[in-house]
Amino acid sequence: MNTRRAVVTGGAGFLGSYLCERLLARGATVICMDNFLTGSPRNVDHLLGRPAFRLLECDLTGFVHVPGDVDLVLHLASAASPADYLRHPIETLKVGSLGTLHALGLAREKNARFVLASTSEVYGDPQQHPQTETYWGNVNPVGPRSVYDEAKRFAESLTTAYRNTHGTDTGIVRIFNTYGPRMRPHDGRAIPTFIRQALCGEPLTVTGDGSQTRSICYVDDTIEGILALAGSDFPGPVNIGNPTEITMLDLARTVIELTGSASPIRFIDRPADDPAVRCPDTTLAATRLGWRAEVGVTEGLRRTIAWFEAELRRTEELVG
Ligand code: NAD
Repeated sequence: MNTRRAVVTGGAGFLGSYLCERLLARGATVICMDNFLTGSPRNVDHLLGRPAFRLLECDLTGFVHVPGDVDLVLHLASAASPADYLRHPIETLKVGSLGTLHALGLAREKNARFVLASTSEVYGDPQQHPQTETYWGNVNPVGPRSVYDEAKRFAESLTTAYRNTHGTDTGIVRIFNTYGPRMRPHDGRAIPTFIRQALCGEPLTVTGDGSQTRSICYVDDTIEGILALAGSDFPGPVNIGNPTEITMLDLARTVIELTGSASPIRFIDRPADDPAVRCPDTTLAATRLGWRAEVGVTEGLRRTIAWFEAELRRTEELVG
């Protein structure tokens, strides 16, 4: 990749902070823009002293100005965890619409490549399995999850309109559930919740009967996939995810085993419109980007558990 100067919106979040790191390692100058709604300057603390790194506190839904040249805009700003976007429904719709408009405007002004971090949630509760990029999805437009799903669907549409109308060099990546170090232990997503519960000796709360599936991708793999799309001229949309499918109950059991926890499993109500299955068809990523996920679930979970253990000790949630 020949990126010299990149903007990462949502760069102080989980995925954004890794992208800032990797772009710096590849010799780019990085401007990280974030309003810290769900991210934290702590995620990029280790980058702050570098001359090639700048952290700008800014809300993408307002006026956006970046002086100088930019070759790449990676647009990740948006709450991503269901607990976060249900707590911030209007902010989520605003950043998906106005925020994406402003990020696209920046890319157009600078003649930069633009990559939208979209999501497997555009497929909703899918009636096609596994999901290919040609599947249009099954989303309830007035359901509780719609604030996120429809914001991302709108963002994909806007991105496509900029490409077709203004000739902006755009790419859309549909990211499937990603996990790894730097997730917030209380962000409400299944993996941080299970790991925290297992390490703290609390019951693991599995929703429904636990037979619903997800495909979970280790963060290093997802980041390589996003950068592969950024470094290409492929418009996508392209699925980036690990096609190994696991039920929520098996995931909870695996976390218990890997942490050596004595925690029991407790079944709780399943949220409205929770997808029954989720698995990417990654043929397109393999053929167009030469990318596939490489880190297995056990290895990825081991690395994540080690980080969570240290993090929970730091915050004194875990003692002894
Ligand atoms: P995150 O919540 O850790 O990061 C999102 C970042 O965006 C945060 O730092 C937040 O403060 C920032 N942000 C939110 N609204 C903003 C605004 N108006 N202006 C500026 N910054 C704003 O979430 P994440 O897991 O790192 O997800 C990053 C992106 O990837 C999101 O767009 C998400 O939809 C997408 N994605 C993530 C996953 C996943 O499994 N992590 C899956 C699919 C898609």
